[in-house]
Amino acid sequence: MRYACILLLLIGCTSKRANPPSFAHEGSVFLDLDLPTPNTFRTGSGAPGSDYWQQQADHDIKVRLDVALNEIVGSEVIQYKNNSPDTLTYIWLHLEQNVHRDDSIRSREGRETGEDQYEGIAITRMEIDGVDATWHDYATVAKVLLPTPLKPNSSVKIAIDWSFAMPVKASLRMGYDDAYEDGPVWELAQWFPTPCVYDDVYGWNSLPYIGRGEFYTNFGNYKVAITVPSNHVVLASGALANSTVVLSQEENTRLKSAMQSDEKIVIRSVEELEEESAQEKTWIFEGKQIRTFAWASSASFIWEAASVEIKTLEGKANRILCQVGYPKEESDIWDEAVTYLQHSIRYYSDTIYPYPWPQISMSRGSAGGMEYPMLVFCRGSSHESLFNVTDHEVGHNWFPMIVNTDERRHAWMDEGFNTFVNHYSLENFYGDREHKPDVSKYIASKFMRDLKAINTPPDLLKSRRHLSYRKPGYGMRFLREEILGQERFDEAWLDYVHRWAFKAPRPSDFYRTMEDSSGVDLQWFFRGFFEEPMQLDQAIGNVEQTDKGVTVTFRNLADWVCPVDVTITCLDSTIHTYTLPVTVWAWSSSHKQTFKLNSKAIKVQIDARNVYPDINNSNNFWSASK
Ligand SMILES: [Zn+2]
Repeated sequence: MRYACILLLLIGCTSKRANPPSFAHEGSVFLDLDLPTPNTFRTGSGAPGSDYWQQQADHDIKVRLDVALNEIVGSEVIQYKNNSPDTLTYIWLHLEQNVHRDDSIRSREGRETGEDQYEGIAITRMEIDGVDATWHDYATVAKVLLPTPLKPNSSVKIAIDWSFAMPVKASLRMGYDDAYEDGPVWELAQWFPTPCVYDDVYGWNSLPYIGRGEFYTNFGNYKVAITVPSNHVVLASGALANSTVVLSQEENTRLKSAMQSDEKIVIRSVEELEEESAQEKTWIFEGKQIRTFAWASSASFIWEAASVEIKTLEGKANRILCQVGYPKEESDIWDEAVTYLQHSIRYYSDTIYPYPWPQISMSRGSAGGMEYPMLVFCRGSSHESLFNVTDHEVGHNWFPMIVNTDERRHAWMDEGFNTFVNHYSLENFYGDREHKPDVSKYIASKFMRDLKAINTPPDLLKSRRHLSYRKPGYGMRFLREEILGQERFDEAWLDYVHRWAFKAPRPSDFYRTMEDSSGVDLQWFFRGFFEEPMQLDQAIGNVEQTDKGVTVTFRNLADWVCPVDVTITCLDSTIHTYTLPVTVWAWSSSHKQTFKLNSKAIKVQIDARNVYPDINNSNNFWSASK
């Protein structure tokens, strides 16, 4: 017989506690985190406030890939709308390709960028509302002085002409790859000047591009005209708006069929790859409310597509086009790639938020895995590894492409949240539990000497793989399955996503939403798991048998706290499980409790399922025979 006695976790408000415990860390872990004071932009419930605002940056870009010079030549008009209550006198721009320049922070740190004497972005024109702009170049960011102040609810037109040599080594999320017989693959990302985010929390978010922090950008509508050799296929962060101009009639017919087909349709086969010519074509893409724009182009792309039906927020059926482009050398591994896209789009749409754009594309070049809206760059050495990377990169279309996380400061809110949802997507795809995260990997990370808090900017992290991906991914699953339970967690989690879809949350907005919607005080969890690098070591101390049952003294030997998952096995073969609430540690690191039993206890165990991040399991067990 097996029964469970689940004691409720501490439920209640997060208001200030009047009297902090007088002893060291045991009680202070429960105190309120030092979060920003709620206001009309961001509320105490974790939802956007009634005055929430964000800037809008619409881009109209014309770009030409000059294959002879291996150069990108662009011209853009950015319509920048100031929705803030503030008057702006300057605008900060990202110039991310300058990361390869000798004077970038990354280069000056002596870190390899793959390029020698790289000249960066050559800006030949920058005008603000038709007036030549004054601007200062600080490598990966630039400060543009506005000729007249930009008032609230006003817009400004920023026109920029620029060019840069294509970095030839694949590094920093984009690349040029000439390893294929039918022509090189160009993958372009973080490639055009664009305004930094101005927000209510930091003002201008002008953190430089050093490498580990990915990007934090404005939502905007994009129209991008990409001119490439006429034999190329282009995949991009948008819907193709001029397919009748750039595709043959046959290709157009196939593309239309793919939009209605669950089965893969070959749009351009290996036999149909075209010879080089001096002709060019301009592919026009449109993307609505996306936070950046990337593209991939190659004469070697075999192009395949199908679509998948999802439900919109209003519950209507909607088909999403899923397309891949890859060189023939990858055929053995990429033959099922369209299926992977279909799975991930369907799974995340069903379980998180409906995919909001008309298509998703995936290219194979030297960059990747890397994620952009509607386009991911992926590589894999087997079907399984390609599926895993595809699912991860497509998952990023939710975090941070829909829920706009500041990746320069809070990488865990995109990589960690994405890793968390990937666990379930993989389980759904493979139909088993093999992909459950391994607690031991997380525990191993606790012993790394340079361990910092998860909520540390990624450029300050050495152990990013642990702290931005694995540990927060595991922590979210632990919070769901062990601390809150699926019902309470899922409602709060979906509230977080739906409240902040197409907006930009900070960690405090996440913490507050999770508490507000689940009704559970989680300050101790967020402090110990995300905000401070704490450790958990629960132990069984003294065990006394009495006529009424067994009295166990539990000890909390490290600085973090958790509920206590107890399993008692009796002489009559009954097994009894209990979850002691985390509040047993509210005023002491020692807790004594009597469990009424009808038979003598022969075994007492903590965390018998091995799902807690306990750094020392050797003290979790007591047996009558020992
Ligand atoms: Zn990722």
